Amino acid sequence: MPLTEIGPAERLLEELRGWVETETPSTDAAAVNRLLDRAEAGLGAVGARLERTPGRDGYGDTLIARTPGEGAPLVIAGHVDTVWDHGTLAGPMPFRIDGPRAHGPGIYDMKAGSFLAFHAVREILRQGTPTRRPITLLLTPDEEVGSPTSRTAIEREARGARAVLIPEPAGGTQGACVTGRKGTGGFTLRIAGRSAHAGGNWSEGRSAVVALAECIQRIHALTDLARGVTTNVAPVWGGTRPNVIPPEAGCRIDFRAPSLAEAERVVAAIRALAGERDGIRIEVTGGLNRPPLEESPAGLALYEQAREIAARQGYRLPKHHRGGGSDGNFTAAMGIPTLDGLGCTGAGAHAPEEHIRWADLAPRGAVLCELLETIE
Ligand SMILES: [Zn+2]
Repeated sequence: MPLTEIGPAERLLEELRGWVETETPSTDAAAVNRLLDRAEAGLGAVGARLERTPGRDGYGDTLIARTPGEGAPLVIAGHVDTVWDHGTLAGPMPFRIDGPRAHGPGIYDMKAGSFLAFHAVREILRQGTPTRRPITLLLTPDEEVGSPTSRTAIEREARGARAVLIPEPAGGTQGACVTGRKGTGGFTLRIAGRSAHAGGNWSEGRSAVVALAECIQRIHALTDLARGVTTNVAPVWGGTRPNVIPPEAGCRIDFRAPSLAEAERVVAAIRALAGERDGIRIEVTGGLNRPPLEESPAGLALYEQAREIAARQGYRLPKHHRGGGSDGNFTAAMGIPTLDGLGCTGAGAHAPEEHIRWADLAPRGAVLCELLETIE
């Protein structure tokens, strides 16, 4: 067990409820900041060294809390924003406990994990537990939209860190840690054609919608399930009326790839769609957003340590790879040992049935805390 007393799951859930009931859609800076105020007050009260960077571009602040110590720090990073709009709590997804499950918007992705990180750091400071290394806790405002404003801070803190721990949701009821994640990226395709009367002078038109349809087929064909590469085109748009040859059309594209080499292949193929021919102009913007978190020996060593800590507590901690990206993708791509998926068990991220297995707050919190105390 960690030296730090984590407390019973009931008490953790009670405080986590306050986090969940402070709704924090990524797009509402004031709402995100209200939750950061609460975290800042809790960490300030126990003497954490705090740094708060004001948000920009409509996103909330980034909060950094440091504990004392010598040497390269351990970084633990969680986001406090969610994909859920205001009113979700009052409407379809109130906070509720249903046997082993606790429901609420963002509880699994990732209020439970970010709360556990906050709680572990707060309790380490409050109880004066010695740790082998200083700890840097980051609470960020915009992961669910690709971390546009917090990425710099995450990478700056990770540079020179001993390791990065990411308490994103654990994998399902088995609670798997994440040792590999696909890289993710996106594009916008804009096509300009030439409008004409669909009856009177059809031949003078150049249909942007037909050109888009051809592009979609080529993008779809880049999917290679055996290699773990997927593409998805959505949404699509184009045209004005049935009797007008459509002068414009476009689409958004999402893609996932398990390695940098595969990601670069997809990026090159999609960029190659750009150009001008036969009266049709195609413009492509976008690219790789989060590089893949490729499984590495250093990442696996961290996992092994977490697994042993869990096993000593009688808790099984498997590992797996995941399709979705996280801020761990950024830090792993920098070559910093990164272990992800250290948050709570549960299911339903970004879905109405989102919940955690709340009794696991205690053992998951204990594993996180012991890692923070003992990583050499
Ligand atoms: Zn998340």
